[in-house]
Amino acid sequence: MYSNPTQKAGRGKPKDGSDPQGKSPDMDQALPAGLYLVSTPIGNLRDITFRALDILSSVDAIACEDTRVTGKLLSAYNIKKKMMSYNDHNANGRRGGILEAIAEGQAVALVSDAGAPLISDPGYKLVREAVRAGHKVTSIPGANAAVTALQLSGLPSDSFCFGGFLPPKPTARKRVLEKWKDMDATLIFYETGPRLEASLKDIKSVLGDRPVALARELTKMFEEIRREKVSKLLSEVRQKGPPKGEIVLVIGKEEPEEMPQVNLDEQIKKALETMSVRDAAEFVAEATGKPKKTIYTLALKLSGK
Ligand code: SAM
Repeated sequence: MYSNPTQKAGRGKPKDGSDPQGKSPDMDQALPAGLYLVSTPIGNLRDITFRALDILSSVDAIACEDTRVTGKLLSAYNIKKKMMSYNDHNANGRRGGILEAIAEGQAVALVSDAGAPLISDPGYKLVREAVRAGHKVTSIPGANAAVTALQLSGLPSDSFCFGGFLPPKPTARKRVLEKWKDMDATLIFYETGPRLEASLKDIKSVLGDRPVALARELTKMFEEIRREKVSKLLSEVRQKGPPKGEIVLVIGKEEPEEMPQVNLDEQIKKALETMSVRDAAEFVAEATGKPKKTIYTLALKLSGK
């Protein structure tokens, strides 16, 4: 049985509704009817919150992708609960039953095999329908592979885009990459070992030789983060074969090309003597064949504006 050291602590409710003592508001009485989205570990079974365990212990039923996977988690925490499967294959047939159960007053938890439900996992249509029906829908946050990989990537985290799984077929994959190419953000994709080489090849050809972090087996015994350029990672995969286990790819923004700064600075300064920053940047970019954006940034800096 899990034990929550703060559950017995006295209550002093702060005005903002948060609970610094960690006592779950969900433990006070029977759970209200509704849909509870509960995040579960992405590897290490201990990466689950007290509140997630409170909810899983208190709901009337748990909808899960695979009852065997969720059964293992529940038995690790000595929780016995009715489970029903809700996955990509049966979701359309099962959704109505879950919504009916909630309408009849039941509290139903939705979990996926790992991490946050709905994130490259089933659930969004269930949430949409539950919201439309006016049911309570709430989330119990926790582990997620994309965010964990981003944190460990060493790449800018101020702005990021999560693209789920890249399509398996090259044409569709390249189309997706083209769409994301000019995004001024770090890109995150879920990937599998067998598809990694082909994806890296397309990433290199569409996005260029960007910095990339391959996060593998996060929170597990063989957790590994490789921080490389796409080309280096690609040749490693070609040499050693596909890495085993679960993978997240985090791709950095395009890095400005290395260029002979002195010469370039001089050219820009000269152009700035008679032109606006924009015109000077355009002129030098054309003359040198260097990317306009890079030259413009440099010209702006040299102009002191
Ligand atoms: N809902 C999950 C989440 O919140 O991260 C993602 C589910 S998605 C079906 C499974 C994919 O997530 C895997 O193929 C892998 O790309 C990524 N993933 C899940 N667990 C991971 C881990 N421990 N390490 C690296 N990647 C992981």
